[in-house]
Amino acid sequence: MHDFSTSSPHLLPVVGLTGGIGSGKTTVAGILESLGIPVFDADARAKSLYQRNADLRVWVVDRFGETCGCYQDGRLIDIDRKALADIVFSNSDALEELNAVVHPVVARDFQAWHALQSEQSNAPYVVREAAILIETGGHKQCDSVAVVQAPQAVRLARAMGRLGTNPAQIEKRMQQQLSDETRREHAHFVVDNADENNLLRQVLDLHKKLVDVHAPRDRKTP
Ligand code: ATP
Repeated sequence: MHDFSTSSPHLLPVVGLTGGIGSGKTTVAGILESLGIPVFDADARAKSLYQRNADLRVWVVDRFGETCGCYQDGRLIDIDRKALADIVFSNSDALEELNAVVHPVVARDFQAWHALQSEQSNAPYVVREAAILIETGGHKQCDSVAVVQAPQAVRLARAMGRLGTNPAQIEKRMQQQLSDETRREHAHFVVDNADENNLLRQVLDLHKKLVDVHAPRDRKTP
């Protein structure tokens, strides 16, 4: 039986939430958020990191070219994530190199966010949502892991609807990510988000279980 007790009594338990592209993890995170759970969206945070971290911007442009930059009055103010994605998702060495630089920065950003939530929130746990949580080893810093899965064809259709990207590009990204089978090996909880399943009921059930397994004997729950 997994020991769900959090590593530090001063910090709220961390639930890692992951799943392949288009699986529905942001939708699941949104439901949990509406129940009062603080959610750290690693992808959204990474986006704003480029705006906030000048060193990171300069490194990306030096390494992957000026076309990856967004400029204002000649100043590099952000990174064009689409241009960057076009480069790194067709070159696994480049992707690995980018990840090796970006992930530690995102991890430190998470630690600061987590410390703040633990001070300010009475929630029973926080969620760390990331598409590549297991690939980066981030799941090892979580107290439990929930995986959202859906058949590949369903994920492809959803991702195309949301991103408006062509199917070949999405399939290429899928190939860079783990399979649902491998993700399940690291999961304590699985949400099966095939179209015919009732997602809301599953997420409410997941929340109940998470409150239960992470309930500290001496911490208030909302
Ligand atoms: P990505 O990795 O691309 O960010 P994601 O795993 O976060 O994807 P979502 O953004 O939650 O996935 O979902 C992708 C799309 O599928 C969204 O438009 C969402 O509204 C839709 N969707 C998610 N779950 C369902 C469902 N059960 N039924 C119908 N549509 C769904």
